[in-house]
Amino acid sequence: MSFENLLNPLDLGFTTLKNRIMMGSMHTGIELLDQPFPRLAAFYGERAKGGASLIVTGGYAPNETGKIEEGGPIFNREADIADHQIITQRVHQEGGKILLQILHSGRYAKEDCIVGVSDIPSRINRRVPRVLTSEEIEQYIEDYANAAALAQQAGYDGVEVMGSEGYLINQFLALRTNNRTDQWGGSYQNRMRFAVEIVRRVKEKVGDNFIVMFRISAIDLVEGGATGAETVELAQALEQAGVTLFNTGIGWHEARIPTIAYMVPRGAWRFAIRNITDHVNVPVIASNRINTPEVAEDIVASGDAQMVSLARSMLADPHFANKVQDNRADEINTCIGCNQACLDFIFQHKPTSCLVNPLAAREFDEEIARQTPTKTTSKKIAVIGSGPAGLSAANTAAQLGHSVTLYDSASEIGGQLNLAKKVPDKTEFYEMIRYYRTQLAKHGVELKLNTKADASTLKAEHFDDIIVATGIVPRIPDIPGVDHPSVVPYLDLLSGKAKVGKRVAIIGAGGIGYDVAVLLANGKSDCAPDTDEFLKKWGVDTAMTHPGGLLPDGPQFHPAAHEITMFQRKPGPMGRGLGLTSGWVLKAELEMTGVQCIPGVSYKKIDDDGLHYAIDGVDHVLAVDNIVLCSGQDSFNTLHRELEAEGIQAHLIGGAAAAKELDALAAVSQGMEIAEQI
Ligand code: NAP
Ligand code: SF4
Repeated sequence: MSFENLLNPLDLGFTTLKNRIMMGSMHTGIELLDQPFPRLAAFYGERAKGGASLIVTGGYAPNETGKIEEGGPIFNREADIADHQIITQRVHQEGGKILLQILHSGRYAKEDCIVGVSDIPSRINRRVPRVLTSEEIEQYIEDYANAAALAQQAGYDGVEVMGSEGYLINQFLALRTNNRTDQWGGSYQNRMRFAVEIVRRVKEKVGDNFIVMFRISAIDLVEGGATGAETVELAQALEQAGVTLFNTGIGWHEARIPTIAYMVPRGAWRFAIRNITDHVNVPVIASNRINTPEVAEDIVASGDAQMVSLARSMLADPHFANKVQDNRADEINTCIGCNQACLDFIFQHKPTSCLVNPLAAREFDEEIARQTPTKTTSKKIAVIGSGPAGLSAANTAAQLGHSVTLYDSASEIGGQLNLAKKVPDKTEFYEMIRYYRTQLAKHGVELKLNTKADASTLKAEHFDDIIVATGIVPRIPDIPGVDHPSVVPYLDLLSGKAKVGKRVAIIGAGGIGYDVAVLLANGKSDCAPDTDEFLKKWGVDTAMTHPGGLLPDGPQFHPAAHEITMFQRKPGPMGRGLGLTSGWVLKAELEMTGVQCIPGVSYKKIDDDGLHYAIDGVDHVLAVDNIVLCSGQDSFNTLHRELEAEGIQAHLIGGAAAAKELDALAAVSQGMEIAEQI
């Protein structure tokens, strides 16, 4: 496929961007580590080296009350200019351009004393904000302008004024957060004033040859949010005030509609972005769930936007743009939208990383390590098992110059990833397998599929190192009657080997239990999320005539294709082990399709009458056609034991080493680490 539109330079008049690929702003948590500026320089520098024409930093507050949390990034003193120059110089050396994002979090700040436009708390932060006075508002506008001036002195190519996602500027705009009666509240004209004044005052300070980007909320997805017409009115006023280009944001943080997780179709929000593009004369940048060059090219080619913003996709592959440029798109390590190591880490107060690229945000440490090179002698290595742990180990070892043979008894690589990709909405796993397939070929890994490696064969081959990544076997719970014909192991269901009847019980409510419930609720497998269906079921008003772009009737989910009941032994709410920023979506979806959840059970038996269980000593029976076992896994390490018996040392990784709490994130990291240690 040709990516000519994506690779076309964008002339902004006073400066030109070399392509249409921008790295969007992200909370990285790097700002809170030791030596944050050299670390950030390495992080952004790697993305500039990888060909992104423009980069936006994580948000810097223009004043003390704007910080997201205690110790959060702020840029309001000349004394900090030299630190920021470490970032800007590095990005410029690598041939990129970089903007400082100015973000005031308003009532979203995770601090005890927070400020707001009005005294209305948010549903994601129950603290009641102190209402800003008119004098403070005037000062805040000045603070934004000062931050922009400081950014200019620090060598940034421009600023992005963060006006979306429900932060302070959004809080001025929407009636849900603004009930003021002065010149900053009431009419839309008054509510827009803060945003427009900021842009006007920033322009006054920085002049015409400095990028002033405004991140506008293309659709708020909250009650009392903007209509499409109001968003256009704001965009036009901001253009008049001097915005160079618009970036777009989708949904406030408190929205109850998923906006970026894997179940959101790629490019799902194009209609909302187009609404802005059609009504302004400056370039518009599309964002959210743009993870492949094909989608990006289509967005630019169609005219929905003039440029694309990739954020998580740049964690997954810092060299995304160069690979597009060099006709190596099949080598892109694609963001699978899992949120597991990026957003979920940030919520756990850890620096960001990436499931498919554990090196993300570790660039500085890697650069330090490379300064003291260790001599690697090429070794002959066997990796047994081509699930995520084995693939990662084989790929890393081959990249380091080792001669690698990868064995798998299956006919294709991927292991459990081949099951994950069949779960509705999880088709991004196809990309992960495609990436590894390309990598293995590129780095000359010898692939022995349909081959069961045993201890004697491996011994005969005289490998220098053996990595055993043979994965897991599903756990069969100790329940009388577990061998009843109605019982189906999850592997058989996900692989399509077994079918189930109308009424289904699921034993176990971990990640796999939820995957199985989603599959049964959908009634079909192996399907990517569909944009029309997604927007319809979540009640999104694509005409954007209703406030926030929400249809008055709310979400409209089809009833589940099966009558599904999920069980777990632990008391209390189910789904606690799911991803922090994606689990709520699964739970909401299943609840809206009518799936029942029964925690705190003890299983009694399975027979022709169904599943017998007790809660608090009271016996129950649920008549079902089938019972799907999703009761966790045990390690499958027979080969490792055989090797030990032969006196052969081998490294045991992934599920084969520890099945409990193992997932693709841990598997990929472990595979990489073991290969680096060899
Ligand atoms: P899991 O998360 O350990 O869940 C196993 C479930 O089975 C639990 O609900 C557990 O609850 C139950 N269970 C355990 N032993 C049992 C027994 N002897 N008898 C009856 N019930 C039993 O395992 P998983 O769901 O198979 O997932 C495996 C790994 O893949 C996990 O780390 C998971 O996070 C990951 N994964 C993640 C996702 C995701 O959405 N992020 C998706 C798929 C898989 P009780 O003990 O309370 O009954
Ligand atoms: Fe994408 Fe998952 Fe990596 Fe986050 S952790 S950047 S969602 S692949």
